[in-house]
Amino acid sequence: MTNVDIVISGGGVIGTALALACERLQYRTLLLDEPLVRHTTGRFGFDLRTVALSPQSLAWLDDLLSCEQLPRQRVERMHIWEHLGTSTIDFCSEEVGSDSLAWILEHSTVATAVRNKCEKLLGNIETETITAVDETPKSITLTNGKVVFCKLLVIAEGANSRTRELVGARWDSQSLGQRAIVTVIETEQPHNNTAWQRFGNGVLAFLPLTKPNTHAIVWSVPNPLFSALQSIDDDQFKERLNRESDQVCGKVLEVDQRVSFPLNHGLANTFRPRPWIFILGDSAHTIHPLAGQGMNLGIEDVRSLESILRTSNIDQAFSPIQLQALAQRRRAKAIIMQQLMSLFDNTWRWKDPLSHWLRNFGVRTFSRLSAIKKQVIREAMGFGPITKVN
Ligand SMILES: Cc1cc2nc3c(=O)[nH]c(=O)nc-3n(C[C@H](O)[C@H](O)[C@H](O)COP(=O)(O)OP(=O)(O)OC[C@H]3O[C@@H](n4cnc5c(N)ncnc54)[C@H](O)[C@@H]3O)c2cc1C
Repeated sequence: MTNVDIVISGGGVIGTALALACERLQYRTLLLDEPLVRHTTGRFGFDLRTVALSPQSLAWLDDLLSCEQLPRQRVERMHIWEHLGTSTIDFCSEEVGSDSLAWILEHSTVATAVRNKCEKLLGNIETETITAVDETPKSITLTNGKVVFCKLLVIAEGANSRTRELVGARWDSQSLGQRAIVTVIETEQPHNNTAWQRFGNGVLAFLPLTKPNTHAIVWSVPNPLFSALQSIDDDQFKERLNRESDQVCGKVLEVDQRVSFPLNHGLANTFRPRPWIFILGDSAHTIHPLAGQGMNLGIEDVRSLESILRTSNIDQAFSPIQLQALAQRRRAKAIIMQQLMSLFDNTWRWKDPLSHWLRNFGVRTFSRLSAIKKQVIREAMGFGPITKVN
């Protein structure tokens, strides 16, 4: 029998970051995770999976880790265009008086850093998983039969969470009929700290990495196109990328191996299925990666919960009323983000001439309205009223 304040189930970036935040607040915390997943480092020496973090999210992570800076690449500019369009959108960090719009990090770098720090501070992470959740007294049972009593259980097991199901939260998942292909490429010309995104056959993003001619790519494509791309070799894939990217950084010279992810919008019907249980990160919501917001949203969940835990004494901290209000706010935010991503994704697919004209008109107008544009940039950077924590 073990007694702790908080059990966190799921040791991805989100669950582990929360464990560190709880430890910093001196709560007795137990982190549970499945055995560590191996990361895929490609032949250019980069993890094939990268993540764009807002300056706000990264500043919080840096503070949490209080260690040497993790390797990261600054995004100073963003250029967005479409294959049929005459208008483009350009964002620049200078427009909002900042040195960066976002930062690109390798997923494994972030995951390993939070995990190492957690193991150092909390001791080993328990690799048993939950088989039962009991109410009186509040406790969980692990696969090895051990019972752990706690005041708060947080589920951060990613999209396919088993404990979420065990506690009776419903998962509403809508397939987007797309897959995201991710890989690393080298181009003739340097990226100049710019992220490029083209809406055409799917959404193709070139994200700058720490070597000047090297980019991470995330290409979200409809399933039929994915099947066609699956069957082509690297040289054909390079040619395809050259066509799809309009060679914004010159020719694509090399491509690394490709991995892919199915895309869904998933949402738990409640983020607080019982008064003492909270769901966050991808266990609570998944969104289209076109704006690179999924992990940022999870970090906001953690920061919101952390701010409740910080300002309360141990009993108030787990007050069901506060948790319920937080769960509602975070769910509302996840819904807004899902709707925004669907809006972007669907709008760029309109093909008929009138819709096409309307879209170009909208893009041109948006680009000229500098006040609104600045607000959108601030929002994406994590400083706007919608992103405001709490
Ligand atoms: C192609 C793609 C590109 C993306 N790009 C970006 C981006 O640029 N910016 C951004 O902000 N977001 C991005 N995202 C989203 C981001 O990757 C996720 O939101 C984030 O990784 C979710 O982290 P998590 O810790 O919640 O879940 P996960 O990373 O899924 O971690 C869950 C953890 O729980 C463990 N687990 C599972 N079941 C159990 C169990 N029963 N018991 C115990 N442990 C369990 C797993 O082993 C894992 O360690 C992208 C997503 C995709 C697919």
